[in-house]
Amino acid sequence: MLTEAVKRQLTAIVGPENFQDNKASLLVYSYDATPQFQSMPDAVVAPRNTEEVSSVLKLCNENEIPIIPRGSGTNLSAGTTPLNGGIVLLFKHMQDIIEIDEENLTITVQPGLITLDMIHAVEAKGLFYPPDPSSMKISTIGGNLNENSGGLRGLKYGVTRDYVMGLEVVLPNGDIIRTGGKLAKDVAGYDLTRLFVGSEGTLGVITEATLKLVPMPETKKTMLALYEGIEAAAEAVSSIIANRIIPTTLEFLDRPTLKVVEEFAQIGLPTDIEAVLLIEQDGPEEVVERDISNIAALCRENQAIQVDIAKSEMEADALRTARRTALSALARLKPTTILEDATVPRSKIAAMVRAINDIAKQYDVEICTFGHAGDGNLHPTCLTDVRNKEEIHRVEQAFEAIFHKAVELGGTITGEHGVGAMKSPYLHLKLGEEGIDTMKGIKQAFDPNNIMNPGKVFAKSERKRVVVQP
Ligand SMILES: Cc1cc2nc3c(=O)[nH]c(=O)nc-3n(C[C@H](O)[C@H](O)[C@H](O)COP(=O)(O)OP(=O)(O)OC[C@H]3O[C@@H](n4cnc5c(N)ncnc54)[C@H](O)[C@@H]3O)c2cc1C
Repeated sequence: MLTEAVKRQLTAIVGPENFQDNKASLLVYSYDATPQFQSMPDAVVAPRNTEEVSSVLKLCNENEIPIIPRGSGTNLSAGTTPLNGGIVLLFKHMQDIIEIDEENLTITVQPGLITLDMIHAVEAKGLFYPPDPSSMKISTIGGNLNENSGGLRGLKYGVTRDYVMGLEVVLPNGDIIRTGGKLAKDVAGYDLTRLFVGSEGTLGVITEATLKLVPMPETKKTMLALYEGIEAAAEAVSSIIANRIIPTTLEFLDRPTLKVVEEFAQIGLPTDIEAVLLIEQDGPEEVVERDISNIAALCRENQAIQVDIAKSEMEADALRTARRTALSALARLKPTTILEDATVPRSKIAAMVRAINDIAKQYDVEICTFGHAGDGNLHPTCLTDVRNKEEIHRVEQAFEAIFHKAVELGGTITGEHGVGAMKSPYLHLKLGEEGIDTMKGIKQAFDPNNIMNPGKVFAKSERKRVVVQP
């Protein structure tokens, strides 16, 4: 609970229109895109600039009030649920593009900027910002940075981390620091930029970011390869990479996912086959032609029953958009959709897909799988109903088995969605207790009062959690 004195001070910092503690506002920010997690904040605060962020953090640090930075709340790891109450910090007044620097090929932005708006601004200058999470129409750059988000183009171009050059960060005590810059090379001390990327709002608040841009690829081509067996599709993924071809995009959708995506998008996707690979290559025309022709041959060698190359950019865009709607399309089927992102080395994709199907059978749960196959990053998605306690218990067991299997295959519990509160009970599988202790030491150094997004990453919470206190 906030004292009246703290409320008054917060209101004085951000202005009365940017401080809210009415029930309706608190309820709206009590949950994010992650099912099963909900908890009420004490207030919602929208600072207008870095100085106001700094004053809010300083005040909260002195009073040990939790701060939950929040972009669009699309994270899938309960990363913005106010587990311990406190203040939800919004960036709706900090959405500007500060500069596009065409000499240094950088863009400097505020954290509340919507990812796709930034991509459009960059592309209008003939430049390219590759990270493209499927949620980019609504996600913010602040959220992308803090989850180190990936996307469809991650196989060739990497993830958000690979494009972050410099940050402005407000520390929990209110200090404002700058890391990195528009520098191709910089080894002055520890790499704090990388430390903040993917830190899930637990170390400080990012108030500005300078991101790397690259020249727009000359051309691109998109194709679909159709398979009668899931494993054949997974083998094709390994074979393409083993043949030293790195496509821009190498996505996998299984039959149940295809069916609902087609019902949703209605673009003529086949629904009577077991799996498809959506593959894209970009670059100079002759490279793209050669790679696409080699990839098509490899797909056929690996039992593709059909390989279709998109005839126009409109057709290619429809395919990409359809893939991006996979989660939304699946979410229409049952009241609760739980999506995970267990990730394995690329060479283990076939084994992981096989294991997911076996585990779904073993626990008698409905799991559809799609994902960034080229990155080894699968999204086993369970369609269920949170009101069915017995089924939810089996779903929990199934996901736990999936995490164990991913780690056993040399993988990880999350490839791009972050740990948040949702996956914290499984972090030890990947890091071991010593690894977790090392990370706790870093957290302690930045945030000794544990005000930044407490309960995330290191939470002791159980995975099942529905806390509603309206
Ligand atoms: C339909 C759908 C598709 C998705 N597809 C993808 C995908 O393809 N790839 C992928 O990686 N993810 C995907 N996601 C997950 C999610 O969209 C990403 O994690 C995204 O980056 C979150 O952005 P956001 O603005 O919603 O951040 P939020 O969910 O609001 O916040 C995410 C985290 O960032 C922290 N945070 C936000 N802003 C700041 C700041 N300024 N300073 C400090 N901490 C901050 C929050 O505290 C939280 O820990 C998808 C989600 C949905 C619902």
